[in-house]
Amino acid sequence: MDQVAEVKSKTDIVAIINEHVPLTKAGQNYKANCPFHNEKTPSFVVSPELQIYKCFGCGESGDVFTFLEKFEGMEFSEALSALAERAGVILKKINSQGRTEKDKLIEINEKAVELYHYLLVKHGSGNSARKYLDERKITPESIKEFRLGFAPDKPDLLFNFLSQKKGEDPRLIEQSGLVVNVRGKYIDRFRGRVIFPICDPRGNTIALAGRIMPGKEKLAKYINSPETPVYHKSNVLFGLNLSKQAIKRSQMVIVVEGEMDFISVWQAGIKNVVAIKGSAFTMEQIKLLSRFTKTIILALDSDFAGNNAAVKSISLAQKEGLEVRVVDLGKYKDPDDYARADPDGFSLAVRESETIWDFLINFIFSKHDPLAGSGKAKISSEVVPILASIEDKIVQAHYAQIVAGKLGVPIESVSEQIGSSPVLPHSSKPEGVVKTKFKRELLEDELFSLCFKANPKLLIKKGMIGIIETPVLKKIQTSLTEYFKSNLKFSASEFAKALPRELSEKYEGLIMAEVGEGNIDREVQRTLSTLKELVIKNRLSDVFQKISRFEKSSDQNALKSAKEEFVKVSQDLSSLRASEIHPKI
Ligand SMILES: [Zn+2]
Repeated sequence: MDQVAEVKSKTDIVAIINEHVPLTKAGQNYKANCPFHNEKTPSFVVSPELQIYKCFGCGESGDVFTFLEKFEGMEFSEALSALAERAGVILKKINSQGRTEKDKLIEINEKAVELYHYLLVKHGSGNSARKYLDERKITPESIKEFRLGFAPDKPDLLFNFLSQKKGEDPRLIEQSGLVVNVRGKYIDRFRGRVIFPICDPRGNTIALAGRIMPGKEKLAKYINSPETPVYHKSNVLFGLNLSKQAIKRSQMVIVVEGEMDFISVWQAGIKNVVAIKGSAFTMEQIKLLSRFTKTIILALDSDFAGNNAAVKSISLAQKEGLEVRVVDLGKYKDPDDYARADPDGFSLAVRESETIWDFLINFIFSKHDPLAGSGKAKISSEVVPILASIEDKIVQAHYAQIVAGKLGVPIESVSEQIGSSPVLPHSSKPEGVVKTKFKRELLEDELFSLCFKANPKLLIKKGMIGIIETPVLKKIQTSLTEYFKSNLKFSASEFAKALPRELSEKYEGLIMAEVGEGNIDREVQRTLSTLKELVIKNRLSDVFQKISRFEKSSDQNALKSAKEEFVKVSQDLSSLRASEIHPKI
């Protein structure tokens, strides 16, 4: 057994998930409101037998590793080592040196935060910084929660603290980026600045950011730790370690620019927020957020719309399947100002956020005069690339219409510019066929779920094999027949192991579905009858069509046999209805 399998076999998924999401027993499984989407009735199911979870609402599913990756934002290796530790499995370290070095760097950052926080909160040297934060309306609770600090304007305060008091290796302190090596002498990077710890999604301090004190604005307003083995600025989001649960619960995230914006929004009672730190919104950040939610609400400084890099990452976000919306900041210059001056107004603006497309189109129209000829040309040259980048053709047609209306030109001329014709409002799929098939699939699924619960052997009885039509279910039937050739008793987990990979997901869904609350045998019987009836009715409608076709073509022989078939199918239907009174399988 490899180490991953060993850790998994010694871990109970129910216990792990229950620590994060309280579970209640439901039959053989456990249930909860799904942590990955917003819901009022539980459709999140955990199977102790298969050691997996599945949400019948949003489709999230996986094993204990996937759960920690998605819920805690862990990397696979992190989830593995966390579970190994719990299970008492000692992992063979592939890269033990790299690992301990990273741990060491995090430790050094933590110690720096500790010192700077102490100086801000308890020490005389922190007076001016405390006063400044107070003026910015940052509460003592926030100072504590975010572990803000103050680095006095001294050249080597931190270096001496870390090397002498804490006994850290100067080479490692230098590697952490908290000090700079100037001709062999170590100087603290952060001096005379308010300190904001930067954490990874799990809460490890991986870097620091420092804001200059008022009156010293000649220097850079913000400086950050440089890139280190633990800090890669393109994939860090300030505050995600604190806001990830709220983001998952609300299924949306408000993205602000800086640390101060974050804290003001947080203090206004809005907890599903992150700060991107700096102007670019990177693909890595988008990917990280997409683990937690599919809706991103931008509350960035209003000039971001003119920033090509930001617009580019937004079109990447929609390719990842994310919905991007924008908050109108009105007269305020940033969310920090807005949330401090009018917390309720800011909350409302978030609720009323518009789609990124509405926002960008309005922004372009506000810059030029759509009634003047030259204005029309400018608007068209800026708006067409945006329309062309909309992936969803129906959404694209919608906005092409809006732009055409605003410009006072026919929609065809806008569509021509985008290089595609507007999508037809009606899909050409024959709806009746889709519906019947859909209903049949649903019934077959239900029948399988019920039989797996009552007695899986029912599924391979003669009558049952002929009636199932859904290809994936037929394959499961075949595997089940094979399984019973070498097994007398059915075990859900053993059968799962025997199934080919492409059938596993379907099977897991079937056995975790909630069916048969009452008398299970009667439920099986009822579902089977309904399915049989549906099959016969489909045959009837086929025969009807044949008859009317042959009547037109006046092919007497074919018409005669079609009519005979009709009589036979009708008899089948009557005998099925009769058997429902005295059911047998
Ligand atoms: Zn869900």
